[in-house]
Amino acid sequence: MPQPIAQDQTRTLRSPQDLMRAGLVAPATVPALEAIAARYATAITPAMAALIKPDDPADPIGLQYIPDAAELITAPHELEDPTADAPFTPVKGVVHRYPDRALLKPLLACPVYCRFCFRREKVGPDGGLLTEAELQEALAWFEGNTAIREVILTGGDPLMLSARRLGEILGRLAGLAHIETLRIHTRVPVADPARVTAPLVAAMRQAKPVVIAVHANHAREFTSDAGVALARLADAGVPLLGQTVLLRGVNADAAAMEALLRAMIRNRIKPYYLHSLDPAPGTARFQVPEADGLALMAALRGRLPGHALPLFVRETPMGGGKKPVA
Ligand SMILES: *Cc1c(COP(=O)(O)O)cnc(C)c1O
Ligand code: SF4
Repeated sequence: MPQPIAQDQTRTLRSPQDLMRAGLVAPATVPALEAIAARYATAITPAMAALIKPDDPADPIGLQYIPDAAELITAPHELEDPTADAPFTPVKGVVHRYPDRALLKPLLACPVYCRFCFRREKVGPDGGLLTEAELQEALAWFEGNTAIREVILTGGDPLMLSARRLGEILGRLAGLAHIETLRIHTRVPVADPARVTAPLVAAMRQAKPVVIAVHANHAREFTSDAGVALARLADAGVPLLGQTVLLRGVNADAAAMEALLRAMIRNRIKPYYLHSLDPAPGTARFQVPEADGLALMAALRGRLPGHALPLFVRETPMGGGKKPVA
């Protein structure tokens, strides 16, 4: 039975005190959570807080967002920079690992901070926003690198930018002759659907195709508000791809994964990647052995339409890029 939350929430929860007042953590855990808060950011939007069953410590939404004392324990295999972006950063905000495509990270802030992600690492009060000069330098890098045909906006979450700012950046990139497609990686449509306003959707209307990859990990994230946000984007002609992280306790069984993938295709999202978890510090409790992930994929084949099946990938160490798990 879904439990109502202790009190009405109209703003994002950001501190252990906020979590306690919302009834999501016990008062006795607050001191331990303060130690985590010194290193890692917390954010739980009203949309996601409303989904958490406070009396269920195994709730798959709560597990993704509520900080846990285990985060302060770094396992021997865990890395500070699991995707090894640093050596592939020609200018601030750009990651260039493949010949034809590169990432642009205009800011590092996210709508929610997922406990399994290295990007929950605290950034400054500016949210890691590139300064105007840094953004111009990054855009100049794309202008000068004519082998790049796709720009992937990521971060942080690019849909945290204002519609005007995002529209300007997309417009600049779409105006480069060698750029053929633009892509945005985001959790906003499920985590904070109210941000998908008409002006934000209008910013996707560009001279080049804009594709959105939506990150979602559990079927319950697809609330009716998320459905409205996704329909706005799909109705505007934006192709939607689905990205999921394989997480123990959240989606690592066939029933949960099937429900998630079906929720995606009902919302016009084509499941794209199922990511094996990157070994970010303090995330071992979410790790699923790759053999179990492969068995899960095998179980799903035949249970679901072929177009509902994502490709199971892992990030290769030392910046080798994403490779199918086989
Ligand atoms: C994931 C990633 C991409 C995109 O890879 P696709 O397989 O095209 O989704 C591009 N650049 C970097 C650095 C990446 O990490
Ligand atoms: S998974 Fe996405 S939204 Fe969550 S912390 Fe990482 S970058 Fe931010």
